[in-house]
Amino acid sequence: MRPTYLEVNLPQLKQNFENIRAHVAPAKVLVVLKANAYGHGVDGVAPFIAPYADYIGVAIAEEGIHLRKLGIATPILVMGGTLLEQLPDFFEYDLTLAASSLDLLTAAEQLADSTRKSLKVHLKIDTGMERIGVREYEAEALIEKSLSCSHLEIEGIFTHFANSESMSLRGAIAPKQPPTSQGIASGENQVRPRNDMVEASLQLKRFQEVLSIYEKLGVPNPPIRHTANSGATLVMPESYYDMVRPGVLFYGVYPDRDIERTIEVKPALTWKSKVVFSKITQPGRGVSYGSLWQAEAPTRIVTVPCGYADGYFRRMTNQPQVVIHQKKYQQVGRICMDQFMVNVGDNDIKVGDDVTLLGNGITAENLADWAGTNEYEVMTNISARVPRVFVGAVQ
Ligand SMILES: *Cc1c(COP(=O)(O)O)cnc(C)c1O
Repeated sequence: MRPTYLEVNLPQLKQNFENIRAHVAPAKVLVVLKANAYGHGVDGVAPFIAPYADYIGVAIAEEGIHLRKLGIATPILVMGGTLLEQLPDFFEYDLTLAASSLDLLTAAEQLADSTRKSLKVHLKIDTGMERIGVREYEAEALIEKSLSCSHLEIEGIFTHFANSESMSLRGAIAPKQPPTSQGIASGENQVRPRNDMVEASLQLKRFQEVLSIYEKLGVPNPPIRHTANSGATLVMPESYYDMVRPGVLFYGVYPDRDIERTIEVKPALTWKSKVVFSKITQPGRGVSYGSLWQAEAPTRIVTVPCGYADGYFRRMTNQPQVVIHQKKYQQVGRICMDQFMVNVGDNDIKVGDDVTLLGNGITAENLADWAGTNEYEVMTNISARVPRVFVGAVQ
């Protein structure tokens, strides 16, 4: 196996899951396993956690099919958008459909009728994300249609928060700003300032209005109502309903730096490598592509066999630190596709010495800052070329 690999601490994931479960009980927990289990390696994470999860969430049908082929029997909700031609897969692999439009719901019912097979469906309501789903002001037609779908099992109804990653302003009511004269021009600086909690509460209120349509029609709500992602799971207990959908939190990372840490979780990833080359570099000799960095005095430069093709972002160049023998050292010179260099000064670092890129005091937050992105992208970007090693699988 190559010396660059990702170690995944499965018992830590289980601990995170249990801490979340204890906090939200009696609500169920849907474990989000999309995007290769947030980069952790779904082939190892899924069989380990599936026996405990009430539900599994994935983004696309292919991820659900992959889980079924691994032998996972837990219910799987495909949370993203689905094309009509993908519907047969939902029947074949027993995937739960997020019915995000009247057309999709109607087509699913017709297919269920003609094939004499049943299908589990969760109605997807858009309360303020404007991504997929039926808006709360047009939900009545969807609900009425769903009540007439005798071949489908309408098991759930859900929505998704747009400001979930930064619900750190709880209680601080910011005044709403009037729209600017620029109107609806795009671009980050035209977006009006907002209070995340106020926005999330508004979404929840809209969701509640949708649920009240059932009362008006004199029928019960679908049994599994859910809205909460990691942010809401941490700070909005009123959003739990029957199930929560924590993604990043399950992986031990908080969705926002300042969010109240009401549930204790810890990261499960350690990204490891080994020094593959070690030498003294002389001043005046530029290191790596573009000669972006030069030593001012002779210094030891070691090479690590990991690069941007592994998900170690090229745009971090000259910023990251790595850990070797419990000490942090500076990455120097352009990060290459398959390798990068580290300045270890006059320390005697040898070929074969262990290097930690993430873990051991280097956090996903650190990497996100160096790369100018968020912790989600740091984790999901670690490429398939990096082997995943699962530790502690025996329970
Ligand atoms: C990805 C996703 C989640 C999990 O989001 P986190 O911020 O990682 O908790 C929950 N619900 C839906 C619909 C998602 O797509």
